Order: sequence, then C-alpha cells, then structure tokens
Amino acid sequence: MKERIHKDVVIIGAGMAGLTAALYCGRMNLSTLVLENALVGGQIANATSIENYPGFKSVAGGDLIATVQQQAENFGAVIDEFDEIERVTLKTSPKVVETQEKIYETDVVIIASGMNRRKLPLAEEKKFSGRGVHYCELCDGHAYDGKIVAVAGGGNAAVDAANFLTKYAEKLYLIHRSQLRADEVSQKRMRANEKITVMLQTEIKALHGDKRLESVDILDKTTGETKTLAVDGIFVNIGVEPNTALFKDELKLTASGRIPAGEDCRTEIDGVFAAGDVREKEIRQLTTAAADGTTAALLAEKYLSKLKAGD
Ligand SMILES: Cc1cc2nc3c(=O)[nH]c(=O)nc-3n(C[C@H](O)[C@H](O)[C@H](O)COP(=O)(O)OP(=O)(O)OC[C@H]3O[C@@H](n4cnc5c(N)ncnc54)[C@H](O)[C@@H]3O)c2cc1C
Repeated sequence: MKERIHKDVVIIGAGMAGLTAALYCGRMNLSTLVLENALVGGQIANATSIENYPGFKSVAGGDLIATVQQQAENFGAVIDEFDEIERVTLKTSPKVVETQEKIYETDVVIIASGMNRRKLPLAEEKKFSGRGVHYCELCDGHAYDGKIVAVAGGGNAAVDAANFLTKYAEKLYLIHRSQLRADEVSQKRMRANEKITVMLQTEIKALHGDKRLESVDILDKTTGETKTLAVDGIFVNIGVEPNTALFKDELKLTASGRIPAGEDCRTEIDGVFAAGDVREKEIRQLTTAAADGTTAALLAEKYLSKLKAGD
C-alpha cells in the first residue's frame, strides 16, 4: 500500500516557474512539495550564460537555478526529483497526485511542467548546442551582432525569429523544408527585409565546425543538390512540445497543447494553477516564468485561506 500524505501545495516541475512558486509557498509557511521527473532546473539548467535576468550581468543557468532551489529549500519546500508522477486527479477535493511510491492529497496543484523545444534531428546537434545551435532568439540573438545566421522553420515563430534576428545579424537565411505556414503579415515583413534570403524546399543535412558551428549542408529538395552554407549560428524553430500529457484528461488544452490560463495563472479548476512556459501566453522567458510562479503561489495562498475559513 502506498503511503498517503497531505500537502497544502504540490508543484509539478522544478524549472524557474516551479521553484519560484516553491520559494513563495515555503515562505508563507505552506507545506510545499515539488515533484520533478527529470533534473531540477528545466530548460535553463544547461545554458552557459544568461544575460537578461535582472540582477545578474551574466550567470550560468545551473548557478541561477541552484540559488533559487536553495532559497526554496531554506523556506521549507521539499523537492523530490526521484519519484515520478503516475496520475493526477484535479477535480476532487482534495486533489490527488499519485507517484510511483506515494499518494499525495493536496488542496492546491501548481502545474509548472514547461515544455521541450524540438531539436534538430542531427547527430552533431549536441556538439554545437549553445555553440552555434540555438533555440531562443530572445536569449541568444544578441551574440550574433554583425554575423551570418540561419533560422530553421517555417511557422510564425520561425518567421518572427528571422525578423527579430536581423536587429543583429548582417545576413540571415530562412531554411524550411516545405512552404511557409506563417501568417501573411509576418511573411510580408520578412520578404521586405533585404538582409533575409528565404530558402524553401530545403533541408539541413549536416552541421560542421571545429569548436563552434561554421557551416551547414543544405539539401535543395527540388534539384537534389547539396551545398554548404557558411553560417555563424542557426536558430532552430521547428516546434515545441508542452509537457501536458499528464493533464489531458483533467484540463482542456489549447491547440498548441498548453494550458489555458490568464495572467492570474488560474485554470478552469479552482485551486489548480498553471505557471511558466506550460501556460498559453505570448512571451516565454525566465522573468515571465518567475512572475507566473510568484502569481500562482500568492493566489494559491489566498485560495487556501478562503478554503480554511470555509468561504
Ligand atoms: C537553450 C535555452 C536557452 C534559454 N535562454 C534563456 C535566457 O537567456 N533568458 C531567458 O529569459 N530565457 C531563456 N530561455 C527560456 C527559459 O529557459 C524558459 O522560458 C524557462 O526556463 C521556462 O521555465 P518553466 O519553469 O516554465 O519551464 P521549464 O524550464 O521547461 O521547467 C519545467 C520542468 O518541469 C519538469 N516536468 C515536466 N513534466 C513533468 C512531470 N510530468 N512531472 C514532474 N516534472 C515534470 C521538467 O523536467 C522541467 O524540469 C532559454 C531556453 C532554452 C531552451
């Protein structure tokens, strides 16, 4: 029989959103458990240098996250990265989060399970990740001032990334394997931009470089020819996968697979909040993840107070 344990708050995911929520919940003396099914830190854990998190000129993702984790633990939050969640039941009172080893009954669930960006399906991707291969133009575009870059992808996110990156890049190639899916307005803006060359029906076949990316092999699918293109960096925008499979029977999801919730992070179920990249929103950054974690925690406390008062 699994042990049954009661918590005020269970937070799912120990990225920036989940850890910030844990810090706030712990500081408000709520019994707080964070469940993480991989490693603490989420998407930012391996980033070498973050230059847009207020308060730090430059900080490694691992160092930033370790500090937030320590803050949360100092306030009494418990972080468990070994016990995987099997199922959640959110519409009952209390809500139930069942792991491989335990059954947690809780009044509040904060979902902060984030997302994964689709990686370039090439063996060399790992070697160049952060060294020429990037997934976030807002985060890493700044390093490409006056350089030649490529964007892989053909949806709105890719075309917007291309338009944005020409703030820095001297020359930009948009590489996409079929036709563009981006909306007309973004496409028009891109086509009017002299720095951008659009390469449709093309596929990236290989990445080359010594310590950093120097060039990519591109297959022209209409002619069957492969050519090598010199680039300093490539920004991959071929889709994301929100981590919401666990909740699909409990909560409605948006077309992109995220959880619909407004700035208050409240979902359709009382006492269930969505924070960070898993929430449907336009801007996904560390600061917005931390902001969501804060909001979810403070509104969770209000919800708990009302619940305890029987309102
Ligand atoms: C390479 C890279 C560089 C970036 N650089 C910057 C930057 O410089 N500045 C910036 O502001 N932003 C940057 N970002 C964006 C930023 O990392 C994200 O916006 C932010 O980390 C989102 O935090 P989150 O907590 O919402 O989600 P995530 O970081 O995705 O964390 C979610 C956590 O939940 C866990 N999880 C998922 N499913 C489950 C489950 N079923 N059970 C338990 N745990 C689960 C995951 O393992 C993960 O640890 C970067 C992103 C990437 C990929």
